[in-house]
Amino acid sequence: MTSPADDTALPDEQRQQLAARLDEVLARMDAAAARVGREGREITVLLATKTRAPAEIAAAVELLRERERPVAVGENRAQEIAKHADALLADNGVPRHFIGRLQTNKARDVVAFAETIHSVDREGIADALERRAETAGLRRDVLVQVNTSGEDSKGGFAPTVEALAPIVERLRASTVLRPVGLMTIGANTSDAVAVRASLHLLRELRDTVREQLGAEELTELSMGMSGDLEIAVEEGATIVRVGSAIFGARPA
Ligand SMILES: *Cc1c(COP(=O)(O)O)cnc(C)c1O
Repeated sequence: MTSPADDTALPDEQRQQLAARLDEVLARMDAAAARVGREGREITVLLATKTRAPAEIAAAVELLRERERPVAVGENRAQEIAKHADALLADNGVPRHFIGRLQTNKARDVVAFAETIHSVDREGIADALERRAETAGLRRDVLVQVNTSGEDSKGGFAPTVEALAPIVERLRASTVLRPVGLMTIGANTSDAVAVRASLHLLRELRDTVREQLGAEELTELSMGMSGDLEIAVEEGATIVRVGSAIFGARPA
């Protein structure tokens, strides 16, 4: 259903440009999925909403729903969570995720905002999220972030089963946090071979940890952004996190 607020929120021309970019992203996903015998519509499009206005986000959610695509919104800065209280976004029922680097002192805000948290990148943050979820009486799905590229600038656990099994076990033992998969930010390079290697590794690690621990609930692979979403889909992504390819280049 179309809500009147959304129709008036974004000027027609902007909405059409948004729809055109979105359809291009969906076509890229579908083509990649077809190459490996998957269905594009089984993959969640997580809108990476940083710096975007509520009207743009609301319109993108609505366009994805019209196209019957699974959609979520992902915020990566705790400071931007407040904009989701905007009337355009508050009540649309879209699943809310957190995808950014987590700070212990923001754990409470993140737990309150996001039903799924992608960026558990160190043991201490699991403790902080757990405490906050317990206090708030909330259960949260979490993904373990893995540094599959080995780049110093990136957070995440080392890309080994030895590093990942203990944190997954620790999360499985929690009564309020539930590990549902792994997340990575692909190698930051134009070398498609290196990008593919980093994304393929995430899938291998997920499969191995799932098998070793009998952790059937590890169903999700959050990987792929505007620049590498085809490779991610080919390598098994269940959630792609897309910002600029849908919303346009970020203002500097
Ligand atoms: C911004 C962001 C994205 C999306 O990046 P684009 O290149 O704009 O698609 C994905 N994941 C994370 C963690 C981000 O911060």
